[in-house]
Amino acid sequence: MTLELSSDVMQRLLDEAANAHPCECCGVLLGTASRIEEVVPAANVHAEPARHFEIDPQTLIDAHRAARTRGPQVLGYYHSHPNGRTGPSPRDAELAAGDGVVWAIIAAGGVTFWRSGDGGFHALPYVVRDR
Ligand SMILES: [Zn+2]
Repeated sequence: MTLELSSDVMQRLLDEAANAHPCECCGVLLGTASRIEEVVPAANVHAEPARHFEIDPQTLIDAHRAARTRGPQVLGYYHSHPNGRTGPSPRDAELAAGDGVVWAIIAAGGVTFWRSGDGGFHALPYVVRDR
C-alpha cells in the first residue's frame, strides 16, 4: 500500500517538529483509506518530552469522536525525534500495538511512515499529491 498526503500535510508535520524542538511533538493523523487528510496536534504530556512522547488522552478521545461524527478515520499517530533518528526507536516498537495503524516519524528534516503490524514496523512508501 502506498500512503498519500498533500504537501500541506507534509509541511505541517515538519513545522510541528520544528516548533516543538528540542521536545518531541506528537499528534493524530486523520484521513480516509490510505490518504492522510488532517494533522491534529496534541500536547506531549510525557514527563520527559525531550526523549519520549505521550499524546494527550483528551486529543485521542476527541479524534475518535470526530471520526464517528464527521467521517475522517484515525489512521495513526505522529511524533518527532529531536535526536535525528529517522526510524522507530526500540521504545516505539514497545508501544506499537501491531494493530495496523500508521506511524509518522519526523526527524532530520524529513518524515518517514511506518505501519505497526505483525513482527514490528514496516516502512510505508508514500507520495505527496495535491488535489
Ligand atoms: Zn519515537
